[in-house]
Amino acid sequence: MELLLLRGKDQEELFAQARAKRSEHFGDEVVVRGVNEITNQCRVNCVFCPMRRENTRANTDFRMDSERLVDVAASVKASGIDVVFFQGGEIPQTTRVVGEAIPGIRELYDGNVEILLNLGNKRRSEYEYLREQGATSYILKFETSDPELNKQARQETLDSRMKCLQDLLDLGYRVGTGSIIGLPGQDVVSVARDLIFARDLGVHMCSVAPFIPAPNTPLANHPAGDVELSLNAIAVSRLLEPNWLIPAVSALSKRAGEGQYRGLMAGANVITVNFTPNEERDHYLIYGRDRFVVKRDYASELIARTGLRTRGSVFLEPMTGGISPLLQPSPAGA
Ligand code: SF4
Repeated sequence: MELLLLRGKDQEELFAQARAKRSEHFGDEVVVRGVNEITNQCRVNCVFCPMRRENTRANTDFRMDSERLVDVAASVKASGIDVVFFQGGEIPQTTRVVGEAIPGIRELYDGNVEILLNLGNKRRSEYEYLREQGATSYILKFETSDPELNKQARQETLDSRMKCLQDLLDLGYRVGTGSIIGLPGQDVVSVARDLIFARDLGVHMCSVAPFIPAPNTPLANHPAGDVELSLNAIAVSRLLEPNWLIPAVSALSKRAGEGQYRGLMAGANVITVNFTPNEERDHYLIYGRDRFVVKRDYASELIARTGLRTRGSVFLEPMTGGISPLLQPSPAGA
């Protein structure tokens, strides 16, 4: 808690320590992912999300098919990125769509690709099927470790999410989780508990994102999450678990122009570039309509400004420990 509340010179010192830990464990490198948001339909009713179940009818909904997923993955590959990330609302249909796309994507990359998924709670047999098809990793955020707050925010039980996280770990996925900072009723004690909770889960990746109030949600008028607290939570995460992949999430930039830069300077080591085709991206309302979209050029400039270098997946075997050949600068105009 004390670390989370540091500001000024002490906060800078905390960030410096987090950077030193990152450097020790990963070198001065940042993993770059390419995300495609594959559907905005969702059966869950999270109070902070404009794609919540109650909004489905009012939104222009979409669901991509397997061929489109392979096409978008080809653009990710053309950009020199070897982490293909599929994210979408929690609906059972994504299991088959993604499962059928994975072999074609692996073929595009001759197998040298990390397939990362963020598709919500599913049955163990569905996770098993996706793993067999070639999925590498999965992100499932618990959002808050306080069971009461969790129930209020997600309108689901924390236990059901924990069961899914355990299934993913059992099945050999590289697993990511994460929390939101600034939910109603949350305080700094709760944020500190979230970080310890994540550490004890034994996951491989963990994110912290400031809450962003979105229109047409029950939390539309709730104040946004504190960016400084979020940055400190990133730094503390790095100190708690130096081996974690920790993203500098786009929500940091939505809240403060330099947020993602500061996220990297606070010890984060992942940037996600958005490859969702324009037509669908306009309907993926994760933070409302005016969300900040990270493009590849922006990500490259951002990483260069921090003095770090881009690298490929850390989950591919054999681990090279260096810059993935796929992430060498792309030819002009690519
Ligand atoms: S945060 Fe995810 S699970 Fe919750 S309503 Fe939005 S899309 Fe669905």
